[in-house]
Order: sequence, then C-alpha cells, then structure tokens
Amino acid sequence: MQNCVMPDLRLNSPLQYVKGVGPRKAELLAKYGLKSVHDMLLYFPREYLDRTSVVPISELKTDQPATIIGVVKAHGILYGKRRRYEVILEDQGSAISLLFFSGIKYWERLFKKGQVFAASGTVTYFQGYQIIHPDLERLEDDTDKMVHAGRIIPVYPQTAELTKMGLSSKSIRRITSFIFEHLKEKIDDPVPPENCSKFSLLSLDHAIRQIHYPDDRTIIEKCRRRLAFDELLELQYVIIQSKLTKSKLTRSCTFGEPAERLSQFKEDLSFELTAAQKRVIREIFDDLHREQPMSRLLHGDVGSGKTIVAIIAALFASENNLQTAFMAPTEILAAQHYRNWSEPLEKLGVRCGLLTSSIGAKKKREVAQLCADGEIDILFGTHALIYDYVAFEKLGLVIIDEQHRFGVEQRGRLFAKGNNPDLLVMTATPIPRTLALTVYGDLDISTIDELPPGRKPIRTVWRSEDARPKVYEFIKDEVKSGGQVYVLYPLIEKSERVELENVEDAFEQLSKNELKEVRLAMVHGRTKTAERDEILKRFRDGEIDVLLATTVIEVGIDNPNASIMMIEHAERFGLAQLHQLRGRVGRGERKSTVIAIAHYPLSDIAKKRLQYFCDSDDGFSIAEADLELRGPGEIYGLKQSGLPELRAANFWKDRDLLEESRKIVSRLSESQNRLDSPDQKLYNWLIENAKRRNLSLGGG
Ligand code: ADP
Ligand code: MG
Repeated sequence: MQNCVMPDLRLNSPLQYVKGVGPRKAELLAKYGLKSVHDMLLYFPREYLDRTSVVPISELKTDQPATIIGVVKAHGILYGKRRRYEVILEDQGSAISLLFFSGIKYWERLFKKGQVFAASGTVTYFQGYQIIHPDLERLEDDTDKMVHAGRIIPVYPQTAELTKMGLSSKSIRRITSFIFEHLKEKIDDPVPPENCSKFSLLSLDHAIRQIHYPDDRTIIEKCRRRLAFDELLELQYVIIQSKLTKSKLTRSCTFGEPAERLSQFKEDLSFELTAAQKRVIREIFDDLHREQPMSRLLHGDVGSGKTIVAIIAALFASENNLQTAFMAPTEILAAQHYRNWSEPLEKLGVRCGLLTSSIGAKKKREVAQLCADGEIDILFGTHALIYDYVAFEKLGLVIIDEQHRFGVEQRGRLFAKGNNPDLLVMTATPIPRTLALTVYGDLDISTIDELPPGRKPIRTVWRSEDARPKVYEFIKDEVKSGGQVYVLYPLIEKSERVELENVEDAFEQLSKNELKEVRLAMVHGRTKTAERDEILKRFRDGEIDVLLATTVIEVGIDNPNASIMMIEHAERFGLAQLHQLRGRVGRGERKSTVIAIAHYPLSDIAKKRLQYFCDSDDGFSIAEADLELRGPGEIYGLKQSGLPELRAANFWKDRDLLEESRKIVSRLSESQNRLDSPDQKLYNWLIENAKRRNLSLGGG
C-alpha cells in the first residue's frame, strides 16, 4: 500500500481517501456518523484480541480467561433441555466447544467449516473444555499479520449491515491502521496540560493512538479516562450553553396570586398532599412568578404522585387564562390522565381536551379548533400535540410526562407553540444527585422524595427458569383469590442475534397449557392502539386476569388490583428499568410480589443487579447502583436526551471528571473570552466541536 499515490491524510480528510474505502463504503460509514478520518479515530474498539495471551487448547485451564485460535471442525444445533449452537474449534489436535444459547440463526450463518477464528472468554469444563458466548473474530487464515505479530489488536463494534458491506471489524482495523500510518498531523490537544496532569491524564494524541493499538493492557483504561474527559467536557458545554440560552429568555405569560379554584380543587381531593408534593408545588409557583420562564425537572420515584403536582400547576395556569399542553409518551397514559382529571377539573370550569393520533380525523380537527380558539384550557395528548395543525391561543405551560421518552426536537416543537411558555418536565427515573446536576444541568430540579402514605412493600425475588411451573401455580392461586397479574417479556428488537422468549409465542403456549383456566390477553408495541386501549381497559375493569406484555406498559399504567408481576429475561433489563416496571404493582390493597426470571448463563454483574433489585425498593439508591453495575449500553433514560453520545465515559467511574468538567466549562462560559487565555483554545474547540457535531439541546 506504500506505493499508492495517496494524498496526505489529515484529520478532516474524508474517509474515502483511505485505502479500501470506496464511495459505497463511505456512504455506509457516514450513516454511522463516520465521515472523516477524525470521526474514524473516535470509533473506539469494543474489545481487544490479545495475541500475547493466546493459549494452545491443550494448555487451557478452567475458570480462566483465555484467547484461543483454531479451525472450525464442526458446527450445528444441539437439542436438549435447552437448544444451543455448538462450534468445535481445533488447534494442533485438541478441541474446544464454543456454545451459544441465543442468536442461533445468526451463528448458523456465520460459521463455515475450515474457517479460522479467534475466541476469547472464560473457559469452563463440562464433558470437555468449553467457552460460553465467547468474543469472536474471524481470521483470514495466516494472512492476518497483525494477529500473528503478537500484538493487542482492536475488535470494533460490528453490525450485520456493516459486515455485509465488507466492513467487518477486521476491515475497520485495516482502515484505522492505514490512518495511523498515513496521518500527517498530530491530534491537537485542546485541553491545557495542567488540567490533564491534575488527573494524570494522557495527551489526546497518545490516548487516541493507544486506544486503537495499545502497547499493553494496562494503558487501555488510561486512554479511556482521557477520552472520557473530552466527552464530558463536550457534554457540559452543551448543557451549560442550553442553560445560558434559557436564562436569556423573558416570560410573556404572567401569573397572579393563586385564587379560589385552586384551594377548592385541593379541598375536593380524596387525599392529603404529601409534604414533598407541597414543597414541590411551592417551588413551581415561585418559578411562575419569576422573570424567566420556568424550566424545571420534576423527578420522583414511581408512584410518588407527580401527576397531581402537574395538574395543580395546569390549574394555576388556567386561573391566569393561560393554556396548558400536557404531553405523555403513550396513548394509554395520555388517556388515563385525561380520564382521571378532566372530571374534577371541568367541575371547576376548567375545560379539558384529549388529542391522540387514534381519535379520528374529524374529532382531531374539532379538538384542534377548540384549542386554537382558546376554548380548551388543558390539552392532554401524545406526540400528536406537536403536529403543525395543533395551535394554541395562549400556551402558557408545557408539561411533559416521562420526558425521557421524548426527543429534544419533539419537546422543542411543543415549546415553540407558545411564546416562551413555562416548562415542567417529569421523569420517574430517579437520577443520582451528582448526575442530575450535570446531566440535567440546564434545568432546575425538584424532587419528590416521599411516597404517599399507606403503600405496601413489594416482595421481590429472582429465580431461574426452572421455577416457572411453580410461578404459574402461584399466579393461578392469586387469580383465584381475585388478584391480577402482569407477565413481562423483553422488547424484541429487530435483531438476528437475539433469540428471546417472546410475548406472542408465550401467549399461544400459556393459553393452551399452563394458564388455560385464567383469562389471558396480550399487548405489545404492534398491537393496534384501539385494541390496546380496549385490552387495558378490560384489564383495569377486572375482565382480564393475566396480561402478557412487552415494556409498552412500563410507564404510567395504573391498576391497583394488579399484585403479581413476572418478568422474563430479567437479566436483560437494567436495574432502573426493572424498578420502573415494578412500579406497576403494589398500588392497591393487595400484597404484591415481583418475580424476576433470569435466563442462564448469567454474568456476575447480572446476578448482582438482580440481587440488588430484590434487596432495595428505593429508586434513588437503585439509580446509583444502576450506574455502578450497568451493563454495556445506554444509561436508562438518557437515550433521547439529545446529549452527545458517550463512547468512552462512564458516569460512575468518571464522576470526578464529570465534576471537574462542569467546573471548567462553567468558568469558561462565564469569563470574558480573551485570546491570550490558556483556556481559549479549549473554549474554541468546544464551540467548533458542538457546531461540527450539531449538538444542542434545543429550545424546550
Ligand atoms: P407518578 O409519580 O409515578 O406519576 P402518580 O402521579 O401516577 O405517580 O400517582 C400514583 C398514585 O398515587 C395515583 O393513583 C395518585 O392518585 C396517588 N396519589 C398521589 N398523591 C397522593 C397522596 N398525596 N396521597 C395518596 N395518594 C396519592
Ligand atoms: Mg407518572
């Protein structure tokens, strides 16, 4: 490749200039946000193949991590208590079995006899050596020089699409190694050295080179920390900019003092507000009397009573002749809010409306017209509220329930229907304090840290699949005595790699066998809205005993008679999400139980997570533990936040850097820009970077 006539590579060179990347591959890479050489360098390896630790199969020891390289001798499905896919890998006459319990179709297609694979994982012994779900990489016989050169080499994230287009981890490795060979530019470090040395951070150039091709294992974590710091600085910049922008808004909606209807409403409530609810209401009312429009996040554990707080704010807005838009992420939830609150509100002359996509075109137009004419005070709804045909005469307050279910842009569009309206967003995902201050740093935060009195504790246990028959018996007994039950199945994403219990097969199976004597129904993401509403209504009315569902029921559903929840594949859910799901039971008089069914093999972390779930019912400590124990993947609830994606940073491990980055960026944003300041370079980098990556939290 050295003889090719190649332009010098620069950081901003398009990837097309890299050997092996033609226009088609470049197009696909662009879909993954990889356009320039620079982008590619920030595409970090998922794993490493440590050729230095390759062990001949004959020398393997049990319970130890190892990498082996061998030839596929045989592969196929094994039937038995559990269906699994087995691959026999051989080197120098010794063999090992690789086992896969899920994604069978995928593995079937992947392996061919005679291919060479590197496999890493922990070796166990059961009628021979085996590795369950190893990390894999296909090698091209003996031509993959790097692997055989005794180095630690990167394994990049792979998707079926990338692999199909010839962008396997190995091809990406060729790209990155080509880049490092030809890059004529040092990666400039925006962070002043004194900031780096304070935390013993590597220079950026060093960190980026080493995270792709590390000299030894120990440097990888140091690289990650350094790159995490950059990400956290970026994150803080976006948040603090958003806060600054908000602080410059001026309100157009003015509020007087709370009047008659408000106290009447509180009097009519069937319960007394908790102290926490009262405090939060005060915080909100104070905001409404300030110069700047409110921008507040209300968080509190599931069932802590956030809705009523929002309703009281909406009522206050209507007393001041201002309209409220109350947006919820699902039709079920929007309809539930409307049903629960429209009657007591209408009684006081507050006009309520409901707008969701399933209510029919004519009705939609009618509601929209009423709203535009100011004939509706509080408009409940789903995403339907953000469409262009929905207008308000005077939108004063925007309330967003379960805000983590909405994207930035959606929130922004609703916000834009008013003239700097007040904004109240709610989430039931408790956020550890340290994190809330940084991640939601552009919002003021109110916390309901107290549950309404009289809630019964929920018993939570986790069991293996073997316990199912017993659980079904338990469910039947509960139904006999008048209780109702949720059975949860993991959301099935369109992925060929996962093979999970799914709600449709389970329904088929259970209604014929284990649960044939109880009244079953199912709902999932593909159930038609009208049908789903009908099913949920029947469930609430006690006409359905056991509801099989995916996580569509995660938010908001209120059936006080539901007393058991069984969660299949509980190991696949994060702790915070499990806790959120659990919030669907324990809402009434009955003693409630949650049974988490875990499927083997289970990692130690997964076991810890399940145990923690059983031991704690406090949303905040669960949120902390979730951070610490989170498996790979997203932090629950942050996916749609509009914040830059974090590839290296870990909120738990890097909480010191998180705090530091917040300090640095606040200082930069407040101080006057001066060309001679050492921070200026960092500040410019942050600005440029946000522009380049189009990062912003938008208006709302
Ligand atoms: P979340 O915070 O999860 O949105 P909700 O607002 O749905 O919780 O409230 C959960 C349940 O608690 C509802 O049935 C609501 O009417 C009830 N509730 C709210 N506040 C109180 C209170 N102070 N006392 C008793 N019940 C309450
Ligand atoms: Mg709620």
